[in-house]
Amino acid sequence: MYRPIPANLVHLLCNIAWEKPNLFAISGRIVYDVGMIHLLDLTPDELRDAMASLDEKPFRAKQIDEWIWKKHVVSIDEMTSLSRGLQDKLNHTACVLSGKGVAESDSSDGCKKILIEWPDGERTETVGIPDGDRLTVCVSTQVGCGVGCRFCASGLDGFVRNLTAGEIVEQLFHVAHAFGLPVTNVVFMGQGEPLANTTETIRSIHTMIDPNRLGISARKITVSTVGLPDGIRELAQEGLSVTLALSLHAATDELRETLIPTALRFGLGDILDAARDFYASRKREITLGYTLLGGVNDDLDSADHLAALATRLRCNVNLIRYNNAPGLNFTSPHPDTIHIFAERLRKAGVNVTLRKSRGADAHAACGQLRRDPKK
Ligand code: SF4
Repeated sequence: MYRPIPANLVHLLCNIAWEKPNLFAISGRIVYDVGMIHLLDLTPDELRDAMASLDEKPFRAKQIDEWIWKKHVVSIDEMTSLSRGLQDKLNHTACVLSGKGVAESDSSDGCKKILIEWPDGERTETVGIPDGDRLTVCVSTQVGCGVGCRFCASGLDGFVRNLTAGEIVEQLFHVAHAFGLPVTNVVFMGQGEPLANTTETIRSIHTMIDPNRLGISARKITVSTVGLPDGIRELAQEGLSVTLALSLHAATDELRETLIPTALRFGLGDILDAARDFYASRKREITLGYTLLGGVNDDLDSADHLAALATRLRCNVNLIRYNNAPGLNFTSPHPDTIHIFAERLRKAGVNVTLRKSRGADAHAACGQLRRDPKK
């Protein structure tokens, strides 16, 4: 469920941050020391509490909100309606953007992958995907990933830490700035498993859909999960009308267990039950994501198993062609194999889309750009 930072905690952190700048970070839900209050991380109520603890009037919170979310000003010195005294206090204790872009990788089809370094030195990737008048951002939710799918570069170094809601939202600012365009769509498909960081994922979605903040329609937000039943139910209970994408990658428990370690804890039956609950409560479409791995899950038997699952759930299948990644022993299937696989599904009555391979020349495999500079 959505858990705001308690007012007394905001008060405490503001006081500590003010007295000991660069020493302290955020709250009970927080995961690491940022040294400064990350303004993108605060809800409107929390920002008002923060102003109270700095002995400022509540209307200052509204002013700051307008500078950030309506005028897209990220420098406190440029928030000219604030008093000089408040600007000084904020410059000592707070920041709008806490990360910085340290590397970019452009693809010939217009996609751009940005590597962001956070104050603790950890790095995550975000991708901007332009398409006509749409700009989609693929956001990361964790540094590394504890799920450890065998075919994914993000899982190679294991889990490091969760991103905060502010860090998730900040990725939209970096992409919007890089393209000079507003963000229209968001997909939670970057590094990390969003539903292993459900609290921050949900907080970030609230900020994205808030009409006084980013105002993105929930329908234009897709949360992709490898299939964590509790997280799926929590998302449903939150009442958010986002699209759920189940990244199955295998249509039998036997094969899934060889590809996705969490499959040993959560079988397909548990995941499909949770997905049905999500559909029952939200009436929002669910898609099955299926990464086609050459010689592993691209045979006709696998297609038949997948068709049976899709039919039971009455959902679409999104086929994703694997992007080869250094250090991983998987390959992309031949285009003919993909075509035959997709046709088999269609003949079984399944609605199939083949996700366009965008950014194929931009370190497209998830986690690849983060690993390259370190090496
Ligand atoms: Fe984690 Fe997703 Fe990579 Fe699996 S595919 S290791 S869930 S980031």
